[in-house]
Amino acid sequence: MEIISVIPRGYCAGVVRAIRIAHETAEKYPDTPVTMLGMIVHNRYVVEACSALGIRFVEDPMKSRLELLDEITEGVVIFTAHGVSDAVRRKAEDKGLIVVDATCNDVLKTHELVRNHASHGDVIYIGRHHHPESEGTVSLSSRVHLVTCIEEAEQLPPLEHVLITCQTTLSLTDTAKIIDVCKRRYPDAVIAEEICAATRVRQEAVMRLENTDLLIVVGDKRSNNSGQLRAIGLSAGIPRALLIDSEEDLREEDIAGCERIAVTSGSSTPNVLTAGVITALKHYAETGELITKKIRITQIL
Ligand code: SF4
Repeated sequence: MEIISVIPRGYCAGVVRAIRIAHETAEKYPDTPVTMLGMIVHNRYVVEACSALGIRFVEDPMKSRLELLDEITEGVVIFTAHGVSDAVRRKAEDKGLIVVDATCNDVLKTHELVRNHASHGDVIYIGRHHHPESEGTVSLSSRVHLVTCIEEAEQLPPLEHVLITCQTTLSLTDTAKIIDVCKRRYPDAVIAEEICAATRVRQEAVMRLENTDLLIVVGDKRSNNSGQLRAIGLSAGIPRALLIDSEEDLREEDIAGCERIAVTSGSSTPNVLTAGVITALKHYAETGELITKKIRITQIL
């Protein structure tokens, strides 16, 4: 059995920065409530490790960030790497909260592009429903139209001076298909595909895999970019692809009989989790014995 460690994988620069900011903020305000607006990243281990630093999280998938802000009445609010709308920024300031912004620079770049274009034209924004990044971007202007699939692109109304752009963590292949439909419907549209470099290179590394029986993606079920890596592996022809939280989820029945297993992880996955999966698989390949260890929160940050 051969174990392929896919490179690049794991934490991106935006997530590393957000975790550093969370750490520094908890240290800087030891006697003030510090609350994160949403999950720092979609990974429960990282959230648990930040909670251990004293950071509180407000999160409800059914509520917007603007609504969640009602649950923070004092102290420091940290905006996550996914970014927030201008309305959220204003409301946080009006409430007298100390604002710490961990929005990723790639997301801020898309916000600037969308804000500038929406002043004189319509923006088609390809993204996901109920995702914090798309929520923040779509809320920048009433001229931004969220499109999540080909069917929605076909149903868009007549638009003027169109810009087509997208969420930073989408699938390269799915996004290209939706852009094609938008281009056909609005032939003069300007295209600014904004999938970030970190997402792109992780997906391209999976697309290049050959002769692989099984792809294991280490990441949280709620992580958009981890889910995309799994989907891309399957559409690239890998017969089976699993999304697991950590080595604790490895099952012998899933790996027995495989000749080549590739392991990657989303940009919100701590490297220690992926390393644990690779070590357990290599040990299984050498000895036929699957030994997994329980993850300790102190290993995460
Ligand atoms: S996935 Fe891309 S956009 Fe998101 S935090 Fe990482 S670098 Fe930034």
